[in-house]
Amino acid sequence: MNAAPLTPNTARTIVLEQTTPLSTETIPHAEALGRILAQDVISPLDLPPFPNSAMDGYAVRASDLQSVPQTLRILETIGAGEIATHAVEDGTCIKIMTGAPVPAGADCVVMREETREHNREVEFLETARGGQHIRPKGDDVRQGETVFERGTVINAAVHAMLASLGQGRVEVTIRPRVAILVTGKELVDVGAELQPGQIRDSNSWALRGLVHSCGAEVVSAMRTGDTQTEVEEALRLSASKADVIITSGGVSAGDFDPIRDVLLSQANVHFWKVAMKPGKPLLFATLHGVPVFALPGNPVSVMVGFEEFVRPALLKMAGRSAWKRIEVEAILQSELRSPEGRTEFVRARLEQGEDGFLAVVSGDQNSGRLSTMARANALLEIAPNVSFLPSGARVRAKLLGSPEVGGF
Ligand code: AMP
Ligand code: MG
Repeated sequence: MNAAPLTPNTARTIVLEQTTPLSTETIPHAEALGRILAQDVISPLDLPPFPNSAMDGYAVRASDLQSVPQTLRILETIGAGEIATHAVEDGTCIKIMTGAPVPAGADCVVMREETREHNREVEFLETARGGQHIRPKGDDVRQGETVFERGTVINAAVHAMLASLGQGRVEVTIRPRVAILVTGKELVDVGAELQPGQIRDSNSWALRGLVHSCGAEVVSAMRTGDTQTEVEEALRLSASKADVIITSGGVSAGDFDPIRDVLLSQANVHFWKVAMKPGKPLLFATLHGVPVFALPGNPVSVMVGFEEFVRPALLKMAGRSAWKRIEVEAILQSELRSPEGRTEFVRARLEQGEDGFLAVVSGDQNSGRLSTMARANALLEIAPNVSFLPSGARVRAKLLGSPEVGGF
């Protein structure tokens, strides 16, 4: 396969064509946080379900308070969860707490701070307007309204809304099951003493974290050396367990790059090589019906390749309705040189300046320098025809996650 490298956008289009949302399951509400709605949620009721007080104060008839000061007699006191036993009539009021149903006869609430209470009577110091400080029935959500569409992430606020709506069970998309396979006979475990020529496997951990951040599940994690036999066996096992396989290393044109050789001979290869830096020798294939993302081994290439191709695919499979990162304009804080002919994804730290975001490039962009990725919170996308940008240039920055800024 010697075709010219694809642009990242073309490659992503192919990836998204090859991936489809997984099937769905219905789970208890309590387990739904972080999952993806696979159903539109139509409200079965009005929220709030009854008109209620937005304040601690007195439920009155606005017509009684057209001239002030004015004194009204208190019929009773009600709190949230209590129903008044009287109706408010001329010359009377009901003391009411936030969330309590507005009693019959009353058409507004006067906040406690605007009154003086003594001996079961209240003196009102301000005039009142009909409807004030009342949350009407259906003010938040109307019965029959579509509150959420399928594809919505069930974050804390959505989870809370589903509780308000009484959704005891929720239909969600099943989590993509991911197999991770790292290759390279130089690799050892995190706890191992390094022998000459060895390095610790970091890509497994980068991939586990990234997979997790997409709401997917790692069902298998393997490490092999650089022989085709080992890789073939590991890929076969992975394909039997997972919806997606992600590999690292062994996909360049070196002497010990078995992933490429095995996939070229056994899988349906959609592309190999993307015109990007880092991460050019990336291969995407389907093996026994399972999409395989074969990422190059350099730690930054793994993470950028994941960001550009695997993440959109996993979000689509997970049933999400959107995958694009928020992009902002930022002002480059140092000059930048970039190779022509390839889109470069530059690791940078965005900071909040007086007049917008500042982009501080996180050091040398060598794809082996994982530390620069670990310090970045954004990727600057530099177009293939740009070879130099002066300090102060405006660049597009893709936010990785939703980073916090500032300090305590
Ligand atoms: P490769 O793509 O297999 O030629 O690997 C490219 C570079 O990435 C080499 O320097 C490898 O040692 C390094 N590398 C490959 N896999 C890993 C890994 N799992 N963790 C850390 N570095 C790796
Ligand atoms: Mg290798």
